[in-house]
Amino acid sequence: MATGTGLDTAQAQRLWRSAQAHLAGGVSAAARIHPSLGYPFMTARGEGARVYDVDGNAYIDLNTSNGASLLGHGHPAVKRAVDRALELGILCAHETPYQSAVADRLAGLVPAIDVVRFSGSGTETTWHTIRTARAFTGRAKVVKFEGHFHGYHDYLGYSAWPPLDQAGPASQPTPYVESAGIPPELATLVIVLPWNDVDALERTLRAQGSDIAAVIMEPVNYNSGSIVPRPGYLAAARELTTQYGALLVFDEILSGFRTGPGGAQEYFGVTPDLCTLGKALGGGTALSAFGGRRDVMATLAPTGRVVHSGTFNGHLIPILAAEAFLDEIAHPDFWPRLERRETTFYAGLRSTFERAGLPVWVQALGARFSLLFGLDAEPTTYRDVARVDRALARRFYGACLEEGVYFHDAWHHGFSSVHTQADLDEALDGVERAARRVATALFSRSPG
Ligand code: PLP
Repeated sequence: MATGTGLDTAQAQRLWRSAQAHLAGGVSAAARIHPSLGYPFMTARGEGARVYDVDGNAYIDLNTSNGASLLGHGHPAVKRAVDRALELGILCAHETPYQSAVADRLAGLVPAIDVVRFSGSGTETTWHTIRTARAFTGRAKVVKFEGHFHGYHDYLGYSAWPPLDQAGPASQPTPYVESAGIPPELATLVIVLPWNDVDALERTLRAQGSDIAAVIMEPVNYNSGSIVPRPGYLAAARELTTQYGALLVFDEILSGFRTGPGGAQEYFGVTPDLCTLGKALGGGTALSAFGGRRDVMATLAPTGRVVHSGTFNGHLIPILAAEAFLDEIAHPDFWPRLERRETTFYAGLRSTFERAGLPVWVQALGARFSLLFGLDAEPTTYRDVARVDRALARRFYGACLEEGVYFHDAWHHGFSSVHTQADLDEALDGVERAARRVATALFSRSPG
């Protein structure tokens, strides 16, 4: 298989070929194929702000495990926590004092959370919030938004990234099923709406409110280019859902811990009924959580009839890692330092692309950002970003690998709390070299 870049990745390609013998498609997750390479970025190890591939190349990491490694790779506090969990016997399927200790801390940080439950993945949490909302309201339908991603289960597997020719009218999108194998009957339980559009939400709740259990959204739509809510939109969604008796659910798997300890709900000052947390929470280990209003969460067994259980729920390795994560983000300088890095890095990216002559809109909030190739204005909906130049993105991310900067070809990127200014400057140098090369090849001229 030809490499899409000039990198020496012979070992990665050999490993990928042999992985295909018994690992479906040679990967553990479909998204691990790096579109610029045509095979997975085959990682040997990570350390701090860097990842190293199996061919011995080193990179500044601007993917940070899809957002899970907010503390960087192998943070000493997380390692100590994992060591403690090992000493305690690698306990799973046991209740210990530690799960409730982390729950107490989350309740103190995240405005919506009175009561919380732990799971392993983000996918599980959105599935369980929907089930909980349905049981609490006695209603079946769920509103989700075009361009918003909530994991891989059947109930919300619609219109995360629909092709525009199959997406229906902008004001009333047709649910587009994201995976084969989802029973068509389930589409009748999902209403897909354009986000950032108060009228569309109002119209839908007025017409079908008595059937709608929940309105679920990413409060910052990182999964479609880090689109931020229009002023007043989240507050309007809060008001309308209350008025029509539907639960408002913020899926903060990605937005949680990006702008501060209380997530986007704290940042924008709008409190949902339920929310999810994941990715960063486990300090790089597999932990997710969903929680919210005490009366709603009381529908969960053993107090209610909604089943949420699992052998690995609240596993001690991620629970103790989460304690360490929460300790780290409680340091007084943690958020101001991250914010300083954001300000300089995003300004640096913008001027780099401008100097290189590559048309890229840098859209960012908190420690996560998107590079929107071919856009020249801030997007407010999925339809705005759906026209980005994917081929250009692929070339750019491939060139970045050659320049020692690791981006996945994804909708969002990010850096960690251990990326120093020097690391980010080094990344900017690599980005500039890559952008100049791509611009030169594209426009057959040397940019100024
Ligand atoms: N919800 C959001 C907003 C996400 O960004 C993701 C993952 O990217 C998920 C849910 C699914 O989480 P996981 O990949 O842990 O199942």
